[in-house]
Formats: sequence, structure tokens, C-alpha cells
Amino acid sequence: MINDILQHFNITSSHSGVAIGGHWLTGQGETLQSWSPVDGQAIAAVQATGRKEYEQVIEKAQAAFLEWRQWPAPKRGDVVRQMGDALRTHKKALGRLVSYEMGKSLQEGFGEVQEMIDICDFAVGQSRQLYGLTMHSERPGHRMYEQYHPLGLVGIISAFNFPVAVWSWNAMLALVCGDVCIWKPSEKTPLTSIAVQKIMEPILKANAVPGGVLCLVNGGREVGEWLAQDTRVPLVSATGSTRMGKQLATVVGARLGKALLELGGNNAIIISEHANLDMALIGCVFGAVGTAGQRCTTTRRLIIHESVYDAFTQKLVKAYQQLRIGNPLDENQHVGPLIDKDAVQHYLHAIDAVKQQGGRFLVEGGVLEGAGYESGCYVKPCIAEAENHFAIVQHETFAPILYVMKYKTIEEAIALQNGVPQGLSSAIMTQNLRESELFLSAAGSDCGIANVNIGTSGAEIGGAFGGEKETGGGRESGSDAWKAYMRRQTNTLNYSTSLPLAQGIKFDL
Ligand code: NAD
Repeated sequence: MINDILQHFNITSSHSGVAIGGHWLTGQGETLQSWSPVDGQAIAAVQATGRKEYEQVIEKAQAAFLEWRQWPAPKRGDVVRQMGDALRTHKKALGRLVSYEMGKSLQEGFGEVQEMIDICDFAVGQSRQLYGLTMHSERPGHRMYEQYHPLGLVGIISAFNFPVAVWSWNAMLALVCGDVCIWKPSEKTPLTSIAVQKIMEPILKANAVPGGVLCLVNGGREVGEWLAQDTRVPLVSATGSTRMGKQLATVVGARLGKALLELGGNNAIIISEHANLDMALIGCVFGAVGTAGQRCTTTRRLIIHESVYDAFTQKLVKAYQQLRIGNPLDENQHVGPLIDKDAVQHYLHAIDAVKQQGGRFLVEGGVLEGAGYESGCYVKPCIAEAENHFAIVQHETFAPILYVMKYKTIEEAIALQNGVPQGLSSAIMTQNLRESELFLSAAGSDCGIANVNIGTSGAEIGGAFGGEKETGGGRESGSDAWKAYMRRQTNTLNYSTSLPLAQGIKFDL
């Protein structure tokens, strides 16, 4: 299967990971080995970016920007429309590659490519709506308005768990805004980035798009640091751990560049005594075990009203007993592997920490062994009774560990939900209007995403995606997220015959 996919994208067993449009450079950096967590097999090697190629990429991107920014935005949108169509054509192959290289289920692999298609559609419409406001000037014979201009080079650093969609959330909007993109994918998923670049190549060529508009710089953290330090890159959009975000924001901030940060979450669902428990169960279980707990929006905490606590935890335990864990390419499985053995170690350490800090497991975890689990990356989703203040509960462990806790009043539940350093996604399950409105009010959830009667995980393209506090404050994808990729200019134009000063200041010569 995998050989067919590599062939489909014309990816060789040792491939360059550096590209300027459709032109592949010889990567002089380290060799990245792509392993599949599905079966532990080495898939292919990728030659990462060295400093010399990085400089070439930046120079080409700068030259391309001078041209691309002059293209009318709807024309840029038309190129993005064609990119969406190309993704439709390659959806199956790319979805399979995402699933095999990253380990998420095939359905989720296809879903990730669908998200790319959706953002293309969104961006096409956006290309005709890069609106600025017009204001009334206080000075007679003057007109005042604002324009949004392209920003320049946009660095996109992405995480392993959404190896291709996160790039498209940024790139498709940045492209219609007139920017050029330099993508530094996760070193754990380089092949999917190469496949995406290959899908885009014919579109760039057919439309005579300047080559440097879409660039790829595979590599490890070091390549990300080059982007962070580079004053030629006005915006760095970075998705990953809070640890990475804190380091990167310091470097970008020191040069007064812009950083768009999409970092870790610690997402909770409140299960009220007014919830439909059967409906809540689906949202909680999918939210906790989907993508093997490796979504930034994964449900990590359940805050359950004391009157339904026993009934709901019993339902949960029963549901967990029915989970099928195995090869994610087999559609009968619910849960696939973690990304690698390091992630398995983090999971095991977290389980130890829960026990040491006083937690009690309702469903035990553990690493699976034997036929089908040879990669050593398959783990059991587990559930622990824990308290919100435990250090381990306050921390995002990127694995399927779910913490459950009790509450008495809705105010207490909201305080628990907000009582973590992260602020990405949140939800309440309730049929009670007062509770749901309180949860969504200024005194409610402090997260960037707050849902009622759906889980924390997953989001639609149309809304702005991102979170507060240690999640980094960035917003991507829908609503007015496009503004992050443009510079705003206020213009005041005097069509009178005198030059009155603002605030009525007199300055006679
Ligand atoms: P990671 O932080 O290890 O790596 C993310 C990316 O940052 C990689 O490309 C890596 O090479 C790069 N990087 C690491 N340190 C860097 C530095 N100092 N400077 C520049 N670049 C650097 O994250 P990961 O393990 O790939 O992904 C999992 C994390 O990502 C989780 O915390 C998850 O919640 C988060 N995430 C957040 C969102 C969101 O939208 N909020 C989406 C997906 C993943």
C-alpha cells in the first residue's frame, strides 16, 4: 500500500525535503528518517534543509513576494481554488499517507484533507473580501480609510498531529492575502509535506505563479529557529507545544516580529446533572480517545456533577472496555498508535505521576504487545479519578489519559474548567438554558472555543480557531483570522485647498 502511495506522489526512498515551488533543492542538512507508528517500518529518508539552501529559499521568496503582491487578490484566489480541486483529486492518497505516517485513523486522515479543501473554498471567498473600513474625518475636505496590504514572507511551523491541515489553514489565507509561505513541517512527518508540495506544483506551473510563493524547508527545531530569528520573515505562525511557543515567542518578540501561536490545550467537558448522558458519552469518548489523545483539542478532563457522577463514570468505563485498538488503516479500529516511542514514555510517566499524586485509575493504561502491535506505539486509553490541582492534571500529556472529577455547583465547575494554564477548547453538556448561557458568558469559560452539547475536539473552518493563556492567543482559519497575514494602513486624503491640522491645532506660518 505504502509503495503505491509513494509512487503516486513520486517520492523516492531518499528524497529532498527542500523546495522552492516545483524546484527541489539538494538538502544539505541532516537526514530525517520517516517511521510509521502503525507498523514500525521505515518509510523513506528525507534530506533536510541546510543553512545554504535556507538562504536560497528566503531570497527566492523575497523576489516572489515583489511580484505576487501585485496580483489582484481574486486572481490569487483563483489559484487557491485550483489548489482545492487538486486536493480533491488526491484526497484518498494524501489521506492514506497522513494516516500511515502519523498514525491517525483513515477516516481522520481523509477528514484532515477535507479540512484543507474547506479552507481553500473559504479562502477563495475571502480573496474578494479583504475589506478595510472607511471613517469620517474630523477635518473638512478630508477622507479617511484603511487598507490591508500583504505582509511579506510568512513562516509556517507545524506540529506532527495535523501534519498537513495546519499548513493549509495558514497558507491558503496567506496566499490570497498576497504573502509568500515558507513551511517548516514537523520532523516527525516530513513525507506528507513533500506530497502536499507535489500536489501544488502543477497548479503553480499552470498559472505561472512565481516559484518562491510556496516554499518547503524540512528540518528539525534548528530550521524553525532560523525562521524565528529571521528579520526578513515578518510573521511566524507556529503550532506545537507550549514549550516551543515560549521559546519561539521570545526570539520573534526580541526582533519585534509577529508570532501567531497555536499551542497546547487542556480541554474539559462539564457534565451537568441536566445533560443527556447518552449524547454526552459519545462526545466524551471520541474527544478523549480520537487520534489516540493527540489532538490539541482532545478532551483531557471531565468535570461531572456529583448526582450523575457514578452513573456517568460507569457508562464511560463500559464504553472504554469496547474500544478496539489497532492498525488505524483498518476502519474497524477506534484507536491507533501514538506517534513514537518517546510519546509512549511520556504516557507511562504521566500514569506514574497520577498514581504518585493520589489519583485512582478506573480504567488502567498500559502498552500493548504482540501481533499487530510490533511498533511498540499502541497504548490503552485510560481513565483516572484525579483532582484538578495535581501537577500532572495541570499539564498537557499528549496521550489518551482522561481525568474525571466531581463538582457541586455550576460556578465551581466553571472555576475548575478555567483552573489550568491552558485555554484552548471547552464544552458543557446540559439541557439547561441558564447553565449554558452562564458557561458562554463573560463569567463562563475562558477558552478560545466554548461549546454546548458537543465535545471539545474538532472544529469547523468557518470559525476562528485558537485559544487563550498558554495556548498562545493566536487565531487561524475562519472569521477575520486573515487579518493576521496583512498589514493595516490608515490613509487620510486631503482634497481641500487648505491644510487644517487634527484636534483643531493652529500652526500659522
Ligand atoms: P513540538 O512543539 O514538539 O513541535 C512543533 C514544531 O515546532 C515542530 O515543527 C518543531 O520542529 C518546531 N520547534 C520545536 N521547538 C522549536 C523552537 N524552539 N523554535 C522553532 N521551532 C521549534 O510539538 P509536536 O509534538 O509536534 O505537537 C504537539 C503539540 O502541538 C501539542 O502540545 C499540541 O497541543 C500542539 N498543537 C496545537 C494546535 C493548536 O492549534 N493549538 C494544533 C496542533 C497541535
